[in-house]
Amino acid sequence: MSSPSAVWNFASGPARLPDAVLARAGDVLFRRGADGATAIERPFTGTAVRAVLESARERLTQLLEIPANYRVLFLAGGAMQQFSAVPLNLLDPDSDLRTAAYADSGYWSRRAMQEAARFAEVSVIARHDGREALAAPAVGKWHVPTGCAYCHITANETVDGLAYPAWPDTGEVPLVADVTSCFLSAPLDISRFGLLYASAQKNIGPSGMTVVIVREDLLRRPAQSAPSPLCYRLQAEQDGCINTPPVMAIHLAALVFEWIAELGGLSAMAETNRRKAALLYQAIDSSDGFYTAPILVAHRSMTNVRFHLADDSLTERFLIDAEQAGLTNLRGHRHVGGLRASLYNAMPLAGVGALIDFMKEFRQSNG
Ligand code: PMP
Repeated sequence: MSSPSAVWNFASGPARLPDAVLARAGDVLFRRGADGATAIERPFTGTAVRAVLESARERLTQLLEIPANYRVLFLAGGAMQQFSAVPLNLLDPDSDLRTAAYADSGYWSRRAMQEAARFAEVSVIARHDGREALAAPAVGKWHVPTGCAYCHITANETVDGLAYPAWPDTGEVPLVADVTSCFLSAPLDISRFGLLYASAQKNIGPSGMTVVIVREDLLRRPAQSAPSPLCYRLQAEQDGCINTPPVMAIHLAALVFEWIAELGGLSAMAETNRRKAALLYQAIDSSDGFYTAPILVAHRSMTNVRFHLADDSLTERFLIDAEQAGLTNLRGHRHVGGLRASLYNAMPLAGVGALIDFMKEFRQSNG
């Protein structure tokens, strides 16, 4: 097969970054200024780095219309650090907030609750009801006990390929969401949540940074046992700079936020993402069962499209041929097998079109 003219990387993360951002990044990050330093060589206590932090925060606040009573932190590390940070900050044994409610929707929510169980009494308040097609737990049936410190959901299950079509109403109990793999893919009503977190390597920038958006009243919880870098209150007091912030990732994130705004903001992202996902699911659904998507239609992820070959013995061949056709990183997560195409903001329609064309050809040759 001749070498492909374009190569499309469908990795689930670290994922493809926007071409326009990469084109700007060299100049922004690696050109020495009059002070003899590049953007990633300056002290984080200085005005230059603080200005970048401020502009990243302002851009994100505008994109998401984050209300004034929330704080935005750019912290070092991944979403898994937040699996511990959330209970360490939000539990308050002195006021009986010892229990944390978790919804079990798949791989990442289970990882989150395993970590939380080190610090909290975990109550699994919802899980998939065992129907044949997989789905996120139905939100209408939740009864979150009022004594819970918080209720945690994984908004989009990157591995399983499913997402919540609506948010649960958890009453007085703050709703906490891991939004790692759907963050900035569509508008999000921040006011529905007490706290949200997303690691960067999907739709924000390179790995090594996590965005935390936290409602101010939750910063008043004592967080006595939280190590300082994981303590939201201390980090908020010091603008996320209690230790060295991930300067390069913040710079790149600021460029990504700017790129999203230039393209029309989150509504524009959502429109394109919906189109990309609809085209790919349609190709799967109209393949006469050659390809199958195991997720209930209303709960299908727009960002991580999971699918399988009805004849699983063809999966390796599919992956080899796809790679030769310039379509890379389509292997499903080892826990669920099959195939997965991650369609974050930086994946253009052309990449999805190329995948769909390949899938049709592969079916013709192997069906
Ligand atoms: N939550 C979700 C939904 C994820 O997709 C991932 C990573 N794929 C994580 C948590 C873990 O993130 P990290 O590797 O940044 O710790």
